[in-house]
Amino acid sequence: MKKVLVIILLILALIVATGYYFSVPKITLHGDNPIEVTMKDGYHEPGFEAKLAFKDITAHVVVDSEVNDNKVGSYTVTYTVDYLGKSAETERQVNVVDREPPVISLKEGKSITIRSYSQFNDPGHLAMDDSDGDVTENVQVKGYVDTYNKGKYYISYQVSDSYGNEAKVNREVIVAGEPIKKIEKVIYLTFDDGPSDTVTSRILKTLKKYDVPATFFILDYGQNEEKIKMLKRAINQGCTIGLHGYSHDYGKIYSSTTAFMDNITSLDAKIQKDLGYTPFVIRFPGGSSNTVSRNYEKGIMSQLVKAVQLEGYMHSDWNVDSNDASANSVSAERIVSSVKKECSEDTYNVILMHDSASKETTADALPEIIEWALEEGYTFKAMEKGGPTIHQRVNN
Ligand code: ZN
Repeated sequence: MKKVLVIILLILALIVATGYYFSVPKITLHGDNPIEVTMKDGYHEPGFEAKLAFKDITAHVVVDSEVNDNKVGSYTVTYTVDYLGKSAETERQVNVVDREPPVISLKEGKSITIRSYSQFNDPGHLAMDDSDGDVTENVQVKGYVDTYNKGKYYISYQVSDSYGNEAKVNREVIVAGEPIKKIEKVIYLTFDDGPSDTVTSRILKTLKKYDVPATFFILDYGQNEEKIKMLKRAINQGCTIGLHGYSHDYGKIYSSTTAFMDNITSLDAKIQKDLGYTPFVIRFPGGSSNTVSRNYEKGIMSQLVKAVQLEGYMHSDWNVDSNDASANSVSAERIVSSVKKECSEDTYNVILMHDSASKETTADALPEIIEWALEEGYTFKAMEKGGPTIHQRVNN
C-alpha cells in the first residue's frame, strides 16, 4: 500500500517537473494594448501578471518604460521576466495624445467699453498651448466695432493647436457715451437686390459721371459673365460690395442661424472666387428690424445680429428710405423727394435704394439726388470696414 503511494507521488513529481521543464514563462498585460492616454492625465501602468506553468512569477517581472506623458508621441513599455533560467518579454504601445485646446486670454478682459466716435484699438490677446507653447501668432481675429453707432459688438478670437484642438473666445465691445467728434455731412448710397443687367449698369454710369461711390448689397448673380464684369467695374469705381444673401427667400434664410449663415457664406465664397474681393458687410433681407422672420423662427434676428459679427461681418440697415420699393413702380419724383426729406445733417445718412431689374425709376432719380446732395454740401462715401453702419431696433 505504501509502495503504491510512493509511486503515485513520484509520478506526480515527474509530471510537475516535466511541466516546468517544457513550459515557458507567459506575461499577460491588463488594460489596452496599444493604449491611448491624454497628456494631461498622464500614464498609469494598467498592470500585468506572469506565470511559469502553474506558478505565479509576477514579482519577477521587470518593467522598462520610455513613456514621456508630457509630450505627444508613441512610446513602448517593455516587460521582461527571467525565472529558473527561462525568460519572456512582451511590449505595450502607449500613445500619448493631446486633447487640450490652447487657452486664449484677452487683455483688459472679455468686456470692454469705449466711447462713441473714438478709435477702437484691440487691447490684444495671448494664446498658450500645453504642447505647442505660445500660439498667439496663429490666433484668427474676426469682427469689427462700429464706433459711430452705440451698441454691443463682438470680436471673436480663434486658434487650434497642431493636434486640431480648437479654442474660441469672444470679446464684447460696448460703444457708449456721447460722441467726441463732429458728424460729417455724408451720404452712403446703398442698392439692394441686384445686380441686374439694365438698372445696375445705368446706376454705375451715373455714379461714374459724378465720381460718386456707393455700396451694392447683392444677391446671387448666377453664372452671368456680364454681371461679374459689372461688379468688377463697381469695385474699380470705388464702390463696395456687401452681402444681401444667396437667396432672398425669407422662409429659407430665416429658418435657422445655420441656414442664414450658409446663405451668406456661400455667396461670400462665390464673390471671393469670381471678383477677388472679400465682402465685410451684410444687409439682412427685410432689414434687422423685420418681423416677417417671426413666421419662420422666433428670436432669429436677435441671434443673427450676434452670429454675423462673430463670423467677422458688420451689418447695416438704413436710416433714409428712398421708398423705391414701397410700390411696384414709384415715380422718380417721389424717390427724389423722399431722399431730400429724410436726409439730415445730424447723422450719417445711409439711403436704401434698389437696383433689381424693375427699378428703372431709381436709376432715373439718381442724377437729381446726387446733384441736390452735392449742392447741399454732402459728400458721398461707400460703406467701409469699421463703419458707420445703421442698426435698426431688432424686433424678433
Ligand atoms: Zn432685399
